[in-house]
Amino acid sequence: MNQQPRREALLWVLGGLATLAGGCASRRASGEPLVSGGNSESGEGIHADAPASSARGEELLREWRERGTGHAASPMSGVIPRSAWTREGTIERLANPLGRVNRITVHHDGMNAFTSTREADSRQRLEQIRRGHVGQGWADIGYHFAVDPAGRIFEGRPLRFQGAHVKDNNENNVGVLVLGNFMETRPTGSALTTLDGFLSNLMSRFGVPLGRVYTHQELKATACPGTHLQRYMVETRSRTGRLARA
Ligand SMILES: [Zn+2]
Repeated sequence: MNQQPRREALLWVLGGLATLAGGCASRRASGEPLVSGGNSESGEGIHADAPASSARGEELLREWRERGTGHAASPMSGVIPRSAWTREGTIERLANPLGRVNRITVHHDGMNAFTSTREADSRQRLEQIRRGHVGQGWADIGYHFAVDPAGRIFEGRPLRFQGAHVKDNNENNVGVLVLGNFMETRPTGSALTTLDGFLSNLMSRFGVPLGRVYTHQELKATACPGTHLQRYMVETRSRTGRLARA
């Protein structure tokens, strides 16, 4: 059964309601800019709080390689299963299969600034985002994975389902959320270290080239993933960047 046209139509309609709920995906339809908290960039280096070592990311990468493939495998090594933060499953009749992964897109949630390193706070925020997305008529939280300020990785929408994170560009696209609002604050060093390792890991696992690792605003008019994370993503993918060298 092909639910794609109906699904697309539904998302199109729901886009108009989207600004009512939190989450970056809620802003994707209109491209409505995020409200800035008034933080100036003040010439701060994005790496100022990044640790020198990417040991955690490299460890994750090695673990995934050793455990081999298995597209639908979940929970995955190094990834906290969704059962840790929600009792709800994906509403499967609203979801499409993801199919073969050939691109990855990075997001922020665009809600209030978030810097807590408590796992309970991250779990609560994920559930808040999921409820917002399901409240718009979606199958589940829109993203496949989320990285928190302490560098934890959480499973979001199961990888066997297509995500809902870039309007008209969800096919074959893995959505990776970094919790926080990076118009307002910079991502933590721990989050960035984990993000690089995890992206490298996904690229390796699915054969996605660096040129197909995007940010939301590179595919659609949106402020996501925020000025600070956007700047970091440009840097880490550059020739001498950490992701490019991973
Ligand atoms: Zn986004």
